[in-house]
Amino acid sequence: MRLSAEIYTETSPDHEHNEDFVLAGSDFVIVLDGASPVPGLENGCIHDVPWLVRQLGLRLAEGLTAPAAWSLAAILEHAIQQVCDAHADTCDLKDPNSPSSTVALLRLHGDRLDYLALADSSVVLRMADGGILPITDDRLDHLQDYSVPGVAAARNTDKGFWVASTKPEAARHAVSGSISLAAQPVQAAAVLTDGAATLVERHDQSWGSLFSILETGPHELVRQTREADETAAGKFRGKRHDDATAVLCHFVGSQP
Ligand SMILES: [Zn+2]
Repeated sequence: MRLSAEIYTETSPDHEHNEDFVLAGSDFVIVLDGASPVPGLENGCIHDVPWLVRQLGLRLAEGLTAPAAWSLAAILEHAIQQVCDAHADTCDLKDPNSPSSTVALLRLHGDRLDYLALADSSVVLRMADGGILPITDDRLDHLQDYSVPGVAAARNTDKGFWVASTKPEAARHAVSGSISLAAQPVQAAAVLTDGAATLVERHDQSWGSLFSILETGPHELVRQTREADETAAGKFRGKRHDDATAVLCHFVGSQP
């Protein structure tokens, strides 16, 4: 059995560069969402967010395609350490505002499907029995203080939220797990950055309804998301528009 992935990623209308990263192989999907620096805020790093997500994404791909099948959390921890090593000589890795990235991973491994979500990128499974299983890390939704110093104080601490940046141990705080496809067959999987999940997280649709739109194509999901975000009224956390990445995975070949 292998994964067949349909991918769409779109830069926010407000961004010059896409700070999401997506890569899929026949047995894995990597989706990252780099955090935009606050303009003018000193963060101790000479690199930009696209540098961070590309470095991290390529290290994750190395780990996911290596012969030794480590756990997804162990692969992520090693990848964050490698990225730290790549700029420890030039940058201040103790700065809490150092560029960071959310992480969503999916891996087909024998008769198992492994998943991991860190910060607000998500994996959503549609089970063969029609049930929907969202794998989300919602700690960013429960901060006491969303000011710049408040978020900096909460980043990569037990009292706040964890994200891939300068602390490899963040990987151990990811939401991760594995299901046996023999026991729980999966029909399809979605891997999404938060910019492609606002129909659920901002507009009160269900994951099942988002999944139905995604199955008409990742591009269509992002189109409908943009439309909903454009007309959204009221207060919501975060930017009106964000980079948006959606991956729809099907499983080709028989499940065990
Ligand atoms: Zn740096």
